[in-house]
Amino acid sequence: QAKDRGKNTYQFYSNNLDGISTWKMKLENWLRRAMEQNQMTLHYQPQFHLVTGKIVGVEALIRWNHPEYGYIAPSEFIPLAEETGLIVPLGKWILRVACEQRKAWKDAGFNDFPIAVNVSVRQFQDEHFIQFISGMLEDVGLEANYLELEITESLMQNLENSTIILNQLKSLGVLLSVDDFGTGYSSLSYLKHLPIDKIKIVKSFVDDITNHSNQGMMVKTIIDMGVNLKFTVIAEGIETEEQVTFLTRNACQIGQGYYYSKPLSAEKLENFLFEDKVKLRPDMNEE
Ligand code: C2E
Ligand code: MG
Ligand code: MG
Ligand code: MG
Repeated sequence: QAKDRGKNTYQFYSNNLDGISTWKMKLENWLRRAMEQNQMTLHYQPQFHLVTGKIVGVEALIRWNHPEYGYIAPSEFIPLAEETGLIVPLGKWILRVACEQRKAWKDAGFNDFPIAVNVSVRQFQDEHFIQFISGMLEDVGLEANYLELEITESLMQNLENSTIILNQLKSLGVLLSVDDFGTGYSSLSYLKHLPIDKIKIVKSFVDDITNHSNQGMMVKTIIDMGVNLKFTVIAEGIETEEQVTFLTRNACQIGQGYYYSKPLSAEKLENFLFEDKVKLRPDMNEE
């Protein structure tokens, strides 16, 4: 009987579940295993001061290479990790690895930029989040101002609760930035009441800014207001020289994108950092 029921259940599901759900179940199993088997690494994308060209930040981005399937993009598995709650342990791992890497770079003499880590709403709402961050930083031996947390506008949907958490995080000394700004719920004047340091203009806004488009006007407005309200403004997804020109002319401070560099392994990023250091110390460059 149980067998029959099982069979019926199977038929029921196979009739109703589409390929996407099957893929999702597979992915969830893989995800659990990936976390146990160290299949994930972090890559790092540098952020540049648009005028001086100096590296002023680095964003950590997760990379997953499945042993059989190959590369699986974050946009594929992060939403699933959020849905299943796996993002909480995964997110802790990401934060720790990023901070350990930042500490290593600091020990190597790269002093003056933070590491930015993406934090999803689910992690942020975990009741132990603040405690985890402060304990982890102490464990790693990294000062809080070397860590920047990238949050999304969707947090503003629960403004009251988010305000409390953001203030607690700020009091630890970490930096806070709003990722993908422009897609969602918040206005800049709204964010002014929160302890936010930076805003990152979403790539889709940055894409079309070269011509005299509405997009350009919108980005110009965001930069103007952002700077006036004392946020640091970052443009993400910069791919062309024209975009750099437009952004620089309109006083955007920081840029990130393939035009400068794709996300790189820690090793490759170090080459960038060394180059930067040598450029800044022409005396070392002589021989
Ligand atoms: P995001 O935080 O907005 O990250 C920027 C994404 O744009 C990254 O994609 C980056 O590789 C890509 N990108 C940067 N510059 C350019 C460019 O010039 N052109 C184009 N076409 N793309 C560019 P990625 O690494 O695939 O990550 C996608 C999203 O997945 C991230 O968007 C973030 O929301 C999420 N994500 C990635 N890593 C993590 C993580 O460690 N934790 C969490 N919670 N989410 C993550
Ligand atoms: Mg981000
Ligand atoms: Mg973004
Ligand atoms: Mg994002």
